[in-house]
Amino acid sequence: MRFWGVRGSIPSPGPRTARYGGNTSCIEVRCGDELLIFDLGTGVRALGEQLPRPVEGHVFVSHYHYDHLQGLPFFTPIFDSTSRLVFHGPTREGQNIAQIISGQMQRPYFPVTTEMVFKAKVSYEPMAEKDRLTIGGAVVTAMELNHPGKSLAYRVDYRGRSVVYATDNEHEARADERLIAFAKNCDMLIYDAMYTDAEYRGETGTAKVGWGHSTWQHGVRIANAAQVKMLALFHHEPTRDDASMDRLLRTVRKHRKATFAAQERQRVEL
Ligand SMILES: [Zn+2]
Ligand SMILES: [Zn+2]
Repeated sequence: MRFWGVRGSIPSPGPRTARYGGNTSCIEVRCGDELLIFDLGTGVRALGEQLPRPVEGHVFVSHYHYDHLQGLPFFTPIFDSTSRLVFHGPTREGQNIAQIISGQMQRPYFPVTTEMVFKAKVSYEPMAEKDRLTIGGAVVTAMELNHPGKSLAYRVDYRGRSVVYATDNEHEARADERLIAFAKNCDMLIYDAMYTDAEYRGETGTAKVGWGHSTWQHGVRIANAAQVKMLALFHHEPTRDDASMDRLLRTVRKHRKATFAAQERQRVEL
C-alpha cells in the first residue's frame, strides 16, 4: 500500500511540511491485481497521474468532507474512456454517493459537471456499516465512526493480511469498543491522530472537543487493546510541520514502539 495524502482538514503545502506532505487523505492499497483507493483527498491527483492506463479499480470514500473528496475532479483516470471505476461510499443526509459526487461538481462550486467530463466507465455502490464486499481475493468491511455527520472506517482482509483505515473519528467509550473489535488483530491500524490529549482538552489553545477528531494517546490505547501489529498515525494537524511531527513521533514511540507517522508517498508492505 502507499500513502498519497496524510494531512487532515486542509492541504498544507510548503517547505515546512514537505517531508510528511501537505496533501489530504488518499491511500492506495494493492491486493494482487486489485486496486483499492481509500478517500479522494488532494493526494489522489498524484496517484492518478502515475497509474498506468487503463485504470480499473474500486474507490472507497469514508465521508464527504472536502478533505476526503476534493481531489476527485483532478483524478485524471476519470477523464479516460478506457478506465473502469467503482465508487463505494455511505448515503448521507438522504443522498447516495452518486448524488453527492455529482453535487460537488456543480456551479458555482466547480466549472464542469460529472456528465461533461467523466469519460471512464463509472459505477456507484452504496456502502454501509456491516456491509461486506469481496473484490478478487480481498474482503472489505465497513463500520461507522464517531464524527459530525459520521465517517466510515474500512477493513481490508487479503490472504491473511489486514489493514484498517479509521480516520475522522472522535474517541468515545462506546465507539472505541466497537473500533477495537473491528480492528482486532489487524496488521495495521491507520488512525486519526490529529491532536494530542493536551490540545484536545484545550490546554494549549482552543479545546477541540466535539470537532470530530482523536488523539495519538487514544490511537495507542485502541491499537494496544485491539492487539494491532502496527499503528499508523494519520490525518495530521495542518499546522504541524515536519520538525514537530518528528518530535511528536518520538514521544509516541516511548509509549508504543510499533508506530509510525504516515508520510506522503510512503510505501508499506504487509
Ligand atoms: Zn478529514
Ligand atoms: Zn471529516
